[in-house]
Amino acid sequence: SKATLFDGDAKVKITFNDVAGLDEAKEEIQEIVEFLKNPKKFTDLGGKIPKGALLVGPPGTGKTLLAKAVAGEAGVPFFSLSGSDFVEMFVGVGAARVRDLFKQAKEKAPCIIFIDEIDAVGRSRGRGAMPGSNDERENTLNSLLVEMDGFATDSGIIIMAATNRPDVLDSALLRPGRFDRQISVDKPDIIGREAIFKVHLKPLKLAADIDPKELSAQTPGFAGAEIANVCNEAALIAARRGKSAVDMKDFQEAMDRVIGGLEKKNKLIS
Ligand code: ATP
Repeated sequence: SKATLFDGDAKVKITFNDVAGLDEAKEEIQEIVEFLKNPKKFTDLGGKIPKGALLVGPPGTGKTLLAKAVAGEAGVPFFSLSGSDFVEMFVGVGAARVRDLFKQAKEKAPCIIFIDEIDAVGRSRGRGAMPGSNDERENTLNSLLVEMDGFATDSGIIIMAATNRPDVLDSALLRPGRFDRQISVDKPDIIGREAIFKVHLKPLKLAADIDPKELSAQTPGFAGAEIANVCNEAALIAARRGKSAVDMKDFQEAMDRVIGGLEKKNKLIS
């Protein structure tokens, strides 16, 4: 059904506890949880609740996770779509889908709408794309702007969007009343990586030689998604070897694999 397309029906179980590190981002975003839980507190004093917040940071740093955690903390439905879904869409479909999304969200408010990779639709109009190929993208962007302007600030809908290219976004998106708040979600430092390891080590059966500090020291440059990946790979490697607990050797191999994968990806990009 259309409802499941945007997931708005499923109850979000993710909370801030699932998001490790990112203390500053969590602190900033806590405000949105308050807006959703108790809008009257703000509107009674004449304040206008923001409609949108932009999460800015490299891939795999937890932007989607953080947006879901806001929904989980506030106990509201989470609707999501990805900008890249619109790239090869037939004329009219992207704009119609945006309208449909907002219609459903209005019925379920208070709620969150999350738009991943917003740069795919939100690229500055009239430049950067191949000639003739970007009409539908522009239609979609225009309908997003119309929808954002079309609901009241006290309607209980908050739109969060994620990007790693804020520089290419159409300035219309960043105007007051639209995505006028930016929250940066950066790659974790050594302390952050340790915290993320702890989250993803929790479900594993670990040997006594596993030390999250050591794992964190050995993974400079890793984002949360890569750390999650390492932990899962290590468990699979240990299982394949018939072990009863995941040990440091399994992690070593898992880290090598993930680093190898990253190097391949970098080579393709450069
Ligand atoms: P992208 O820009 O590629 O969409 P993203 O920033 O939205 O990436 P997520 O999809 O939220 O990243 O992260 C992918 C997975 O990596 C999460 O589901 C989670 O398992 C893990 N992860 C990423 N960051 C964190 C974090 N700070 N704490 C715990 N887990 C994390």
